[in-house]
Amino acid sequence: MACEPALVIADEPSTALDVMVQAQVLQLLQKLQQEMGLAMLFITHDLSVLVEVCDRIAVMYAGRIVEEGPARDVFEHPAHPYTAALAAAFPRIGDPRFRGAPAGLGGDPPDLQALPTGCTFHPRCPRVFEPCPDVDPVLTEAGAGRVAACLLVEGAMERSLAAAR
Ligand code: SF4
Repeated sequence: MACEPALVIADEPSTALDVMVQAQVLQLLQKLQQEMGLAMLFITHDLSVLVEVCDRIAVMYAGRIVEEGPARDVFEHPAHPYTAALAAAFPRIGDPRFRGAPAGLGGDPPDLQALPTGCTFHPRCPRVFEPCPDVDPVLTEAGAGRVAACLLVEGAMERSLAAAR
């Protein structure tokens, strides 16, 4: 911070911290961001933290962006099944609709040197359907200011087939 950067890349700045220290770190980063007019790229697996500190979220799977859009829209109405699985993995204390154990996601992350064919998420996807192992989905508009790489998104199949030609 002493060099007054225009961009700060914060890689897992809140991981393994207890919630009190995590809140202090996030508040400090937001304060510095506002005071210094910083752009900040915040990297974490914790979607619930991103919603509090970020304007936009890009979700990556197997080294590629699979969904991107306004933070709260992406978290509350995921367009990609992987984003939905991430969002469902967090307990929402106080909301009776989410009582019980958080949902998990089966399977393992893919071997990046031997990626699955088609949609790389298809071996783990709870919504997989017939074309998913064969067609690699490209990012397609999935609402205002949003894109997602899933064949369930309207128009994604046509765009993905055209991109593969
Ligand atoms: S393209 Fe198919 S496998 Fe991939 S995320 Fe969408 S539904 Fe799941």
